[in-house]
Amino acid sequence: MKRLGIVAALLAIVFLVAPPAFAQVKGVYWTTSGKAGPFPLNGLVPSLPPEKNREVTIPINMWVIDHAKGLVVFDTGNNAAISDGQCKTHWAAGNCDFLKPSQKRDDVIDRQLQKIGFRPDQVKAVITSHSHLDHIGNIKLFPKAVHVIQKKELYQAWWPEKFQRDGDVFVMKDFDGPARDFNYLELEGDYDLFGDNSITVLSTPGHTLGHQSVRVRFPNGKTMILAQDAIWFKENLEGYPAGLNYSVKDYNASINRLKMIRDLENGELYFGHDADQFNQGGAPKWFK
Ligand SMILES: [Zn+2]
Repeated sequence: MKRLGIVAALLAIVFLVAPPAFAQVKGVYWTTSGKAGPFPLNGLVPSLPPEKNREVTIPINMWVIDHAKGLVVFDTGNNAAISDGQCKTHWAAGNCDFLKPSQKRDDVIDRQLQKIGFRPDQVKAVITSHSHLDHIGNIKLFPKAVHVIQKKELYQAWWPEKFQRDGDVFVMKDFDGPARDFNYLELEGDYDLFGDNSITVLSTPGHTLGHQSVRVRFPNGKTMILAQDAIWFKENLEGYPAGLNYSVKDYNASINRLKMIRDLENGELYFGHDADQFNQGGAPKWFK
């Protein structure tokens, strides 16, 4: 009996000291800041052979992660100002004409949060994959949150290389003024957001200098990898690199990294803008 008692005490200590891994994620919500297109896929993936080219209308993916320690938003989509046909008040005319965003005001992240029962001021952390116009657009709606971004990406947003500046894909109005004084958790690599291995920011440079993706692990062991623009479309995974890259070498290394994490953990990989993936049971949708 005494020995059993000792075993029971040891087991109790083990369970107290080591709570079940990844027990903290309650759900992941996939939604979009409207769509963009239609346009030819090779406008974004110039390496695509002509026989694989097609017209696509793409989702502008955003993610909400409900965690016991707080609410997390991963990417805030297109700025609210471009809603309802007002694109040219906020974006360069050329980007409005090419991307043809269809965002309605109701598609913007604050309304998306309200639709699932949350207020924007409940958001504890905003993770921004990178500072392009369709990902960092609404950080100003979250003045109280901790903003999680790679330090290099902040530098690049403010002073992009000339070859990336020409496309007008960094919109200064998205992150100037009050956003200068937000609380930025400036990362230089990977980061375990809540210290429990359930939400991990993964450094995936290449598309931009400081691009980052997110891995979510559920209590049941399921892994979701939210690549955002480390991988736009499944064609990128098949060996056709996207255009607009800061570094094709780093871009390929990041794709390979995410593929290997997917394969090792039997995870699901979600791309930044894949129309087919979206149409096969895509947003709006909860994963639990
Ligand atoms: Zn994007």
